[in-house]
Amino acid sequence: MSIPAFLDSQNRLHRESVNGECPHCGSVAHFSLMACPTFARLRAEQPARVGIVLECDACHTPLFIRYRVRAWHEDRVEFHPLPEEMERPPERFSYAHLPDAVAATFREALACHTAGLNQAFALMCRATIQAMLEDLGERSRLKIFDQVAEVRMLAEIDDTTFNAIRRVLFEGEAPQGQVAQPLTRLQAMVLLETLKDLLYQSYVRRARLQQALRLRQFPAVEPARPPAMPIVPAIRSVER
Ligand SMILES: [Zn+2]
Repeated sequence: MSIPAFLDSQNRLHRESVNGECPHCGSVAHFSLMACPTFARLRAEQPARVGIVLECDACHTPLFIRYRVRAWHEDRVEFHPLPEEMERPPERFSYAHLPDAVAATFREALACHTAGLNQAFALMCRATIQAMLEDLGERSRLKIFDQVAEVRMLAEIDDTTFNAIRRVLFEGEAPQGQVAQPLTRLQAMVLLETLKDLLYQSYVRRARLQQALRLRQFPAVEPARPPAMPIVPAIRSVER
């Protein structure tokens, strides 16, 4: 059972976890408490949610989080153990081996995911698959479908989640008059990992293999001769 977070009558905030991944600098850091409403004020107003401000010890950027109130006691306000995240760490992916059209749509998909816009994220995932098919040819549709089926097997994805992902990636718009089934946050996360894997299999893996084989075919034959002039490394002087 997780320990609830709470604010005691002495205005001390007790948190379940004081470390985490900073959405600004990406470090796993300690978050210091910068601002929290007082116990007296919360008791008087009894809001459903309480916002507090933390600061990342690594980059000193403020971070806003929100707790849902679970119970009011004489000596403390009890919160749900996990705060609602208002800012998420950005999703990262190396776009180096992706064709421009695929990279552009996938970059937008990641931005939608980071912002928590699940429907927009689903649309951009479908657009990414479209861009892949335009690049790889319509014949690769079956191969991509097989790869998704493989991800399902490897990751043991349940039927409901798999069907939601399949619908997003391979079925067109919902018929007129019908609203597309919204994705849950968990389904969106599985969809993201699936799409990352598809991109990796289709582009990154191939490019890395080709690169490795090229290096084997054309190894550096001659060791480089020492230069006539000593090379002065271009080090920028640090001004203080
Ligand atoms: Zn930080």
